Amino acid sequence: MMIQKSGKNQTRDNTLSLEYVTCDLCESIEFEHVYSKGDDTYFTTLFDFPVVRCKNCKLTFVNPRPSSESMRAFYPKPYYERGSAENTTRYEAYMSWIRVPPSARVCEVGCGRGDFLKLLIEKHQLKEAVGIDPYAASFLDIDAKFFKSTLVEAKLESGSFDVIMAWAVLEHVHEPLKYFKEISRILKPGGHFYCLVTNANSIYGRFAYKEDVPRHLYHFSKRSLNEYAYKVGLQLDTYKLSNSIYNGRGNGTFSHWVRKLVRLPWYYEITSQSESLRSKIVNLGKLLDRVIFRGNWEETLGISGIAHVSFIKSENG
Ligand SMILES: [Zn+2]
Repeated sequence: MMIQKSGKNQTRDNTLSLEYVTCDLCESIEFEHVYSKGDDTYFTTLFDFPVVRCKNCKLTFVNPRPSSESMRAFYPKPYYERGSAENTTRYEAYMSWIRVPPSARVCEVGCGRGDFLKLLIEKHQLKEAVGIDPYAASFLDIDAKFFKSTLVEAKLESGSFDVIMAWAVLEHVHEPLKYFKEISRILKPGGHFYCLVTNANSIYGRFAYKEDVPRHLYHFSKRSLNEYAYKVGLQLDTYKLSNSIYNGRGNGTFSHWVRKLVRLPWYYEITSQSESLRSKIVNLGKLLDRVIFRGNWEETLGISGIAHVSFIKSENG
Protein backbone atom coordinates (compact mmCIF):
# COMPACT_ATOMS: atom_id res chain seq x y z
CA MET A 1 0.00 0.00 0.00
CA MET A 2 1.38 3.39 -0.95
CA ILE A 3 1.37 5.88 1.93
CA GLN A 4 2.81 9.03 0.45
CA LYS A 5 4.43 10.36 -2.69
CA SER A 6 7.69 12.20 -2.27
CA GLY A 7 9.32 14.77 -4.53
CA LYS A 8 10.90 14.21 -7.89
CA ASN A 9 14.50 13.26 -8.58
CA GLN A 10 16.21 13.19 -11.94
CA THR A 11 17.24 9.99 -13.67
CA ARG A 12 19.52 10.27 -16.68
CA ASP A 13 16.69 10.27 -19.17
CA ASN A 14 13.50 11.02 -17.31
CA THR A 15 12.06 12.03 -13.97
CA LEU A 16 12.13 9.59 -11.10
CA SER A 17 8.96 9.55 -9.07
CA LEU A 18 9.46 8.08 -5.60
CA GLU A 19 6.78 6.54 -3.42
CA TYR A 20 6.80 5.51 0.24
CA VAL A 21 5.05 2.23 1.04
CA THR A 22 3.81 0.28 4.05
CA CYS A 23 5.16 -3.23 4.66
CA ASP A 24 3.81 -5.54 1.93
CA LEU A 25 3.52 -8.43 4.37
CA CYS A 26 2.05 -6.92 7.55
CA GLU A 27 1.19 -3.30 6.56
CA SER A 28 3.30 -1.88 9.39
CA ILE A 29 4.70 1.63 8.91
CA GLU A 30 7.56 1.19 11.40
CA PHE A 31 10.90 0.44 9.78
CA GLU A 32 14.59 0.55 10.60
CA HIS A 33 17.14 1.69 8.05
CA VAL A 34 19.51 -1.14 7.04
CA TYR A 35 21.63 0.50 4.34
CA SER A 36 21.35 2.71 1.27
CA LYS A 37 22.41 1.80 -2.21
CA GLY A 38 22.51 3.50 -5.62
CA ASP A 39 22.01 1.93 -9.04
CA ASP A 40 25.65 0.83 -9.45
CA THR A 41 24.79 -1.36 -12.45
CA TYR A 42 23.48 1.27 -14.88
CA PHE A 43 24.00 4.56 -12.93
CA THR A 44 20.56 5.72 -14.04
CA THR A 45 20.43 8.21 -11.15
CA LEU A 46 22.76 9.20 -8.30
CA PHE A 47 19.93 8.78 -5.76
CA ASP A 48 20.87 6.52 -2.84
CA PHE A 49 17.87 4.22 -2.27
CA PRO A 50 17.22 3.38 1.41
CA VAL A 51 16.76 -0.32 2.19
CA VAL A 52 14.63 -0.74 5.31
CA ARG A 53 13.53 -3.63 7.52
CA CYS A 54 10.00 -3.84 8.95
CA LYS A 55 10.22 -3.66 12.76
CA ASN A 56 7.27 -6.03 13.05
CA CYS A 57 7.80 -8.87 10.52
CA LYS A 58 11.43 -8.15 9.43
CA LEU A 59 10.63 -8.01 5.71
CA THR A 60 13.42 -6.06 3.97
CA PHE A 61 12.65 -3.72 1.08
CA VAL A 62 13.50 -0.50 -0.77
CA ASN A 63 11.61 2.48 0.68
CA PRO A 64 11.05 5.01 -0.79
CA ARG A 65 11.22 3.32 -4.20
CA PRO A 66 10.57 4.26 -7.82
CA SER A 67 6.86 4.14 -8.62
CA SER A 68 5.71 1.52 -11.15
CA GLU A 69 5.45 4.24 -13.80
CA SER A 70 9.05 5.40 -13.38
CA MET A 71 10.51 1.87 -13.09
CA ARG A 72 11.08 1.45 -16.82
CA ALA A 73 14.06 3.84 -16.69
CA PHE A 74 15.82 1.25 -14.52
CA TYR A 75 15.49 -1.49 -17.14
CA PRO A 76 17.56 -0.16 -20.06
CA LYS A 77 17.99 -2.28 -23.19
CA PRO A 78 21.27 -3.92 -22.04
CA TYR A 79 19.37 -5.42 -19.08
CA TYR A 80 17.50 -7.71 -21.50
CA GLU A 81 20.58 -8.60 -23.52
CA ARG A 82 22.47 -10.45 -20.80
CA GLY A 83 24.46 -13.66 -21.50
CA SER A 84 22.56 -16.41 -23.26
CA ALA A 85 25.37 -18.97 -22.62
CA GLU A 86 24.95 -18.39 -18.85
CA ASN A 87 21.22 -18.81 -19.23
CA THR A 88 21.58 -22.18 -20.95
CA THR A 89 23.48 -23.50 -17.92
CA ARG A 90 20.81 -22.05 -15.64
CA TYR A 91 17.98 -23.64 -17.62
CA GLU A 92 19.67 -27.04 -17.25
CA ALA A 93 19.87 -26.47 -13.49
CA TYR A 94 16.16 -25.50 -13.30
CA MET A 95 15.29 -28.56 -15.36
CA SER A 96 17.11 -30.96 -13.06
CA TRP A 97 15.54 -29.35 -9.98
CA ILE A 98 11.83 -29.18 -10.76
CA ARG A 99 9.50 -32.19 -10.81
CA VAL A 100 7.04 -32.12 -13.70
CA PRO A 101 4.27 -34.77 -13.52
CA PRO A 102 2.99 -36.44 -16.72
CA SER A 103 0.55 -34.31 -18.76
CA ALA A 104 1.23 -31.33 -16.53
CA ARG A 105 -0.03 -27.80 -16.92
CA VAL A 106 2.87 -25.44 -16.25
CA CYS A 107 3.13 -21.67 -15.96
CA GLU A 108 6.27 -19.52 -15.95
CA VAL A 109 5.97 -16.03 -14.46
CA GLY A 110 8.56 -13.66 -15.98
CA CYS A 111 9.26 -16.02 -18.91
CA GLY A 112 11.13 -13.53 -21.15
CA ARG A 113 10.84 -14.79 -24.76
CA GLY A 114 9.92 -18.29 -23.53
CA ASP A 115 13.37 -19.93 -23.90
CA PHE A 116 12.96 -22.11 -20.81
CA LEU A 117 9.39 -23.07 -21.70
CA LYS A 118 10.69 -24.21 -25.10
CA LEU A 119 13.13 -26.62 -23.40
CA LEU A 120 10.39 -27.80 -21.03
CA ILE A 121 8.04 -28.55 -23.95
CA GLU A 122 10.82 -30.51 -25.73
CA LYS A 123 11.53 -32.62 -22.65
CA HIS A 124 8.07 -33.26 -21.18
CA GLN A 125 4.66 -34.22 -22.54
CA LEU A 126 2.83 -31.14 -21.24
CA LYS A 127 -0.91 -30.62 -21.37
CA GLU A 128 -0.45 -26.86 -21.35
CA ALA A 129 2.41 -24.34 -21.13
CA VAL A 130 1.72 -20.71 -20.23
CA GLY A 131 4.27 -17.88 -20.18
CA ILE A 132 3.74 -14.44 -18.69
CA ASP A 133 5.98 -11.42 -19.10
CA PRO A 134 4.83 -7.79 -19.19
CA TYR A 135 8.16 -6.57 -20.63
CA ALA A 136 9.04 -9.21 -23.24
CA ALA A 137 9.77 -7.60 -26.62
CA SER A 138 8.59 -10.79 -28.40
CA PHE A 139 7.65 -14.42 -27.70
CA LEU A 140 8.96 -17.58 -29.36
CA ASP A 141 6.74 -19.36 -31.84
CA ILE A 142 6.27 -22.50 -29.74
CA ASP A 143 3.34 -24.52 -28.44
CA ALA A 144 2.71 -22.23 -25.46
CA LYS A 145 0.18 -19.57 -24.58
CA PHE A 146 1.80 -16.21 -23.85
CA PHE A 147 0.49 -13.18 -21.99
CA LYS A 148 2.23 -9.83 -22.30
CA SER A 149 0.92 -8.69 -18.93
CA THR A 150 1.44 -9.05 -15.20
CA LEU A 151 0.36 -12.30 -13.56
CA VAL A 152 -2.73 -10.71 -12.01
CA GLU A 153 -3.80 -9.12 -15.33
CA ALA A 154 -3.55 -12.51 -17.11
CA LYS A 155 -6.63 -13.69 -15.13
CA LEU A 156 -5.81 -17.40 -15.34
CA GLU A 157 -8.22 -20.11 -14.27
CA SER A 158 -8.31 -21.08 -10.57
CA GLY A 159 -6.68 -24.39 -9.54
CA SER A 160 -5.36 -25.11 -13.02
CA PHE A 161 -1.56 -25.54 -12.79
CA ASP A 162 0.56 -28.44 -11.53
CA VAL A 163 3.77 -26.39 -11.65
CA ILE A 164 4.37 -22.64 -11.47
CA MET A 165 7.85 -21.13 -11.74
CA ALA A 166 9.27 -17.64 -11.14
CA TRP A 167 13.04 -17.50 -11.63
CA ALA A 168 14.46 -14.38 -9.93
CA VAL A 169 11.19 -12.49 -10.36
CA LEU A 170 9.59 -11.86 -6.96
CA GLU A 171 12.28 -9.45 -5.80
CA HIS A 172 11.39 -7.22 -8.79
CA VAL A 173 7.63 -6.83 -8.26
CA HIS A 174 5.99 -3.91 -6.46
CA GLU A 175 3.50 -6.05 -4.49
CA PRO A 176 4.79 -9.59 -3.79
CA LEU A 177 1.71 -10.47 -1.68
CA LYS A 178 -0.53 -10.03 -4.73
CA TYR A 179 1.71 -12.46 -6.64
CA PHE A 180 1.71 -15.03 -3.83
CA LYS A 181 -2.10 -14.80 -3.61
CA GLU A 182 -2.51 -15.23 -7.35
CA ILE A 183 -0.03 -18.13 -7.52
CA SER A 184 -1.89 -19.91 -4.71
CA ARG A 185 -5.23 -19.29 -6.46
CA ILE A 186 -4.18 -20.73 -9.84
CA LEU A 187 -2.15 -23.65 -8.43
CA LYS A 188 -3.85 -27.08 -8.24
CA PRO A 189 -4.08 -28.65 -4.77
CA GLY A 190 -0.85 -30.64 -4.41
CA GLY A 191 0.83 -28.42 -7.06
CA HIS A 192 4.30 -26.91 -6.67
CA PHE A 193 5.58 -23.36 -6.97
CA TYR A 194 9.34 -23.04 -7.59
CA CYS A 195 11.26 -19.78 -7.32
CA LEU A 196 14.66 -18.21 -6.87
CA VAL A 197 14.90 -15.17 -4.59
CA THR A 198 17.70 -13.26 -2.88
CA ASN A 199 18.48 -13.68 0.83
CA ALA A 200 18.27 -10.44 2.81
CA ASN A 201 20.28 -11.96 5.69
CA SER A 202 23.43 -12.68 3.71
CA ILE A 203 26.89 -11.13 3.38
CA TYR A 204 25.96 -10.79 -0.32
CA GLY A 205 23.00 -8.54 0.51
CA ARG A 206 23.96 -6.90 3.77
CA PHE A 207 27.69 -6.14 3.39
CA ALA A 208 28.66 -6.63 -0.26
CA TYR A 209 25.62 -4.63 -1.46
CA LYS A 210 25.00 -7.15 -4.23
CA GLU A 211 21.21 -6.69 -4.27
CA ASP A 212 20.40 -5.13 -7.63
CA VAL A 213 18.74 -2.03 -6.12
CA PRO A 214 16.41 -0.44 -7.15
CA ARG A 215 15.38 -3.33 -9.46
CA HIS A 216 15.41 -5.68 -6.44
CA LEU A 217 12.66 -4.02 -4.41
CA TYR A 218 12.14 -6.88 -1.90
CA HIS A 219 14.83 -8.96 -0.19
CA PHE A 220 13.43 -12.13 1.35
CA SER A 221 14.35 -14.52 4.15
CA LYS A 222 13.11 -17.95 5.25
CA ARG A 223 10.95 -16.22 7.84
CA SER A 224 9.28 -13.81 5.40
CA LEU A 225 8.72 -16.57 2.79
CA ASN A 226 7.10 -18.72 5.47
CA GLU A 227 4.82 -15.84 6.40
CA TYR A 228 3.84 -15.15 2.78
CA ALA A 229 3.09 -18.86 2.36
CA TYR A 230 0.98 -18.97 5.51
CA LYS A 231 -1.02 -15.90 4.41
CA VAL A 232 -1.99 -17.39 1.04
CA GLY A 233 -2.46 -21.09 1.87
CA LEU A 234 0.87 -22.42 0.63
CA GLN A 235 3.47 -24.41 2.53
CA LEU A 236 7.21 -23.77 2.29
CA ASP A 237 8.59 -27.10 1.05
CA THR A 238 12.31 -26.43 0.41
CA TYR A 239 14.55 -23.50 1.27
CA LYS A 240 18.15 -23.98 0.23
CA LEU A 241 20.87 -21.33 0.05
CA SER A 242 23.11 -22.18 -2.87
CA ASN A 243 25.53 -20.63 -5.38
CA SER A 244 24.88 -23.32 -7.97
CA ILE A 245 22.53 -21.29 -10.22
CA TYR A 246 23.34 -17.65 -9.40
CA ASN A 247 26.44 -16.49 -7.53
CA GLY A 248 25.37 -15.47 -4.00
CA ARG A 249 28.87 -14.84 -2.66
CA GLY A 250 29.73 -11.73 -0.66
CA ASN A 251 32.50 -10.65 -3.04
CA GLY A 252 32.53 -6.84 -2.73
CA THR A 253 32.41 -6.63 1.06
CA PHE A 254 36.02 -5.52 1.46
CA SER A 255 36.13 -3.18 -1.54
CA HIS A 256 33.05 -1.34 -0.22
CA TRP A 257 34.57 -1.24 3.25
CA VAL A 258 37.82 0.30 1.94
CA ARG A 259 35.89 2.66 -0.36
CA LYS A 260 33.96 4.05 2.59
CA LEU A 261 37.15 4.26 4.65
CA VAL A 262 38.80 6.49 2.02
CA ARG A 263 35.51 8.42 1.59
CA LEU A 264 34.79 7.66 -2.05
CA PRO A 265 31.14 7.76 -3.13
CA TRP A 266 29.54 4.56 -4.52
CA TYR A 267 29.54 6.10 -8.01
CA TYR A 268 33.25 7.08 -8.02
CA GLU A 269 33.94 4.77 -10.97
CA ILE A 270 32.01 7.07 -13.34
CA THR A 271 33.71 10.26 -12.09
CA SER A 272 37.22 11.74 -12.36
CA GLN A 273 37.92 10.17 -8.95
CA SER A 274 38.26 6.78 -10.67
CA GLU A 275 41.89 7.64 -11.47
CA SER A 276 42.78 8.89 -7.99
CA LEU A 277 45.10 7.35 -5.42
CA ARG A 278 42.06 6.56 -3.27
CA SER A 279 40.54 4.44 -6.02
CA LYS A 280 43.80 2.48 -6.24
CA ILE A 281 43.56 1.84 -2.51
CA VAL A 282 40.08 0.38 -3.13
CA ASN A 283 41.77 -2.14 -5.43
CA LEU A 284 43.39 -3.63 -2.31
CA GLY A 285 39.89 -4.32 -1.02
CA LYS A 286 39.04 -5.97 -4.35
CA LEU A 287 42.08 -8.20 -3.98
CA LEU A 288 40.98 -9.23 -0.49
CA ASP A 289 37.50 -9.97 -1.84
CA ARG A 290 38.95 -12.26 -4.48
CA VAL A 291 40.92 -14.20 -1.87
CA ILE A 292 38.34 -14.40 0.93
CA PHE A 293 35.28 -15.16 -1.21
CA ARG A 294 36.93 -17.59 -3.60
CA GLY A 295 35.52 -20.72 -1.94
CA ASN A 296 32.01 -21.85 -1.22
CA TRP A 297 32.11 -21.38 2.56
CA GLU A 298 29.03 -19.12 2.71
CA GLU A 299 26.95 -21.85 1.07
CA THR A 300 28.36 -24.38 3.54
CA LEU A 301 27.42 -22.09 6.44
CA GLY A 302 23.94 -21.47 4.96
CA ILE A 303 24.43 -17.70 4.59
CA SER A 304 24.88 -17.16 0.85
CA GLY A 305 22.76 -14.73 -1.10
CA ILE A 306 20.54 -16.84 -3.35
CA ALA A 307 17.70 -19.03 -2.06
CA HIS A 308 16.27 -21.96 -4.04
CA VAL A 309 12.71 -22.22 -2.80
CA SER A 310 9.68 -24.39 -3.43
CA PHE A 311 6.15 -24.27 -2.03
CA ILE A 312 3.28 -26.79 -2.09
CA LYS A 313 -0.42 -26.06 -2.12
CA SER A 314 -2.05 -28.44 0.33
CA GLU A 315 -4.28 -31.20 -1.12
CA ASN A 316 -7.40 -29.80 0.54
CA GLY A 317 -6.59 -26.55 -1.20
ZN1 LIG B 1 6.07 -6.15 8.13
